[in-house]
Amino acid sequence: MLGGDTQRGKAQAGRSTPIASMSGMPELPEVETVARGLARLLEGAVVARIEPLRADLRQPIPAALSTATGAVRAVRRRAKYLLIELPGGAILCHLGMTGSWRLAPAGDERGHDHCLVHLADGRRLAYRDPRRFGLLDWIPAGAAHPALAGLGPEPLDEAAFTPGYLAAACRGRRSAIKALIMDQAQVVGVGNIYAQEALFRAGIRPGRAAGRVPRARLEVLVAEIRAVLTAAIAAGGSTISDFRQAGGEHGWFQQQHLVYGRGGQPCAGCGSRLASGVIAGRGTTWCARCQR
Ligand SMILES: [Zn+2]
Repeated sequence: MLGGDTQRGKAQAGRSTPIASMSGMPELPEVETVARGLARLLEGAVVARIEPLRADLRQPIPAALSTATGAVRAVRRRAKYLLIELPGGAILCHLGMTGSWRLAPAGDERGHDHCLVHLADGRRLAYRDPRRFGLLDWIPAGAAHPALAGLGPEPLDEAAFTPGYLAAACRGRRSAIKALIMDQAQVVGVGNIYAQEALFRAGIRPGRAAGRVPRARLEVLVAEIRAVLTAAIAAGGSTISDFRQAGGEHGWFQQQHLVYGRGGQPCAGCGSRLASGVIAGRGTTWCARCQR
């Protein structure tokens, strides 16, 4: 299974899932892991037909999705969207909170299966979304999609998300640096967990005005954002290689967090108690001594 309801399944099974794992929503590393899993699965595959099963996603599955056929050209991630590129356009998918993809052999029908993708070689991919916040849409070739408009650069794109870029985005800004790096128009896919971890590692207090963070710190921040996301992708990628075992174990969020969810506990850097509060509308933890 490739998607967001894995965490719930683990929690329900009573495994020793760290509290920090209960984010409830796939973030960039999880979506990247799903994209890579789908890419491996769909390499050289041909989509024969799409079979909608339920209409009750965030918005109804469009009839135009039935035109999504042909040889898969690529599977990509943009921000937290998956794009399955076909000759006539692309299938757009957002996993919402609980969306997942799995190989579904005949007989493997489950409640909340929203859609089946039938491949020419007889395999079937199922999209399942119990909480229905996900999205499936069709983007005809050459068309734009509102969900993809106005997005900032990818944080892992070293040519686009540079210290110079971030410094320009921060210049003169009074908003908190944490709010700025979580703003999808500035840089995509830096969610609440990764923003806190990267700011701790860069020694920047999350509530500091973006325009007052020194350039040298911003350079470290760019590197640390990439580092925390890359580590999370590696953790997911290493355990998802056997994803053909639908419902198998995946390693999302299993990496150790230094600050996220650790308010009141000792700082890993200096031992003092970590502070917490609400910054950028979300619970935030930081070290008042290590982060300036
Ligand atoms: Zn500290």
